[in-house]
Amino acid sequence: MKKLVLFLAAQFLFVAMYAQTDAQYMKKADEIHRKYLTVDTHNDTAMYLNHPDGEDWSVAKGQVSFPKMKEGGLDAAFFAIFLDQGPLRESSRDSVYAYAMNEIALFKNYVAKHSDEAAFAYTPKDLKKLKKEGKRGVVLALENGYGVGIDLAKVDSFYVAGCRYITLCHNYINDICDASRYPSPNGYDGLSEFGEQVVRRMNELGMMVDVSHASTATLYDVIKLSKAPIFASHSSVRAIKDHPRNLTDQEIKDIAATGGVIQLATGRWCLTNAPKKETSVKHLADHIDHIKALVGPEHIGLGTDFDGGGGMVDFEDCSKMKNLTVELLKRGYTEKELEMFWGGNFMRVWEETIKVAKEIAKGKK
Ligand SMILES: [Zn+2]
Repeated sequence: MKKLVLFLAAQFLFVAMYAQTDAQYMKKADEIHRKYLTVDTHNDTAMYLNHPDGEDWSVAKGQVSFPKMKEGGLDAAFFAIFLDQGPLRESSRDSVYAYAMNEIALFKNYVAKHSDEAAFAYTPKDLKKLKKEGKRGVVLALENGYGVGIDLAKVDSFYVAGCRYITLCHNYINDICDASRYPSPNGYDGLSEFGEQVVRRMNELGMMVDVSHASTATLYDVIKLSKAPIFASHSSVRAIKDHPRNLTDQEIKDIAATGGVIQLATGRWCLTNAPKKETSVKHLADHIDHIKALVGPEHIGLGTDFDGGGGMVDFEDCSKMKNLTVELLKRGYTEKELEMFWGGNFMRVWEETIKVAKEIAKGKK
């Protein structure tokens, strides 16, 4: 009997200690999210917020809202205007541009209605200021350069509208480049001539060139041509999950060599072959570990792809961000590394992109 009591007491003590440790990790995570700027560089939530009832949403589930961002300690997010790839015809190009501009206008109305909670950011400084004010930072992005058509002036139009990166393509070839998911027999073997002009213009404007979704040949054309660090807004590790959208170790090394950053996407499709109900922050943390071991902690961040296929168990929406921080703390990540992961690395790339634009304007690059 005495032995049993001792055994139970030991068990209770172990559980109590363990529980306390978990609580301590969460306390530390709270502190980190309070102290440092946290950024998610990709969600597809804008269209969902624009049309919450009116569309047939096969993927969007409302994983991002300003209250959920606040709860999860997420300061800022890039809200992409997503364009499905359509035909490369003049009329289609015109209509997709009009659609994109209308979506931006609708989303601006939405954010204006929530001005007590959130505001648009156009520069890294804006994001830092909004964090101090306790407001969520909202940055626009264009997912799929299809919206640019074959008119370079439209790159400027999207910049003026507030977009701070353009994902060059989606799953199919467009006028700019080849895509990774479904290679086309009529491809350019990378960037088209027009695509080269687009990258140059984006450099001049200080707009980040997003290589997520682009083919390997496109990536290497951008590495050769772009004067700014390479930016992948939502891509994961091919060595762990063999998916054409994911980046190979060589690609990760070459992106890191430009001073760039890989913002890891979430969701079973890009993380693991494990069943969906078993896919968790642990799988995402494995991808983070892999990049850290390969090129160091300076080249990793997060682009959840929420409302576009992102999310796992314990990471169902942006209110659960701190669960990832807890997992990384358990794996021995330092406060400094977590500061870099949650925003430091990405902000370095954004700031450098703007600096490059200023140098180009002065004729120094
Ligand atoms: Zn995407």
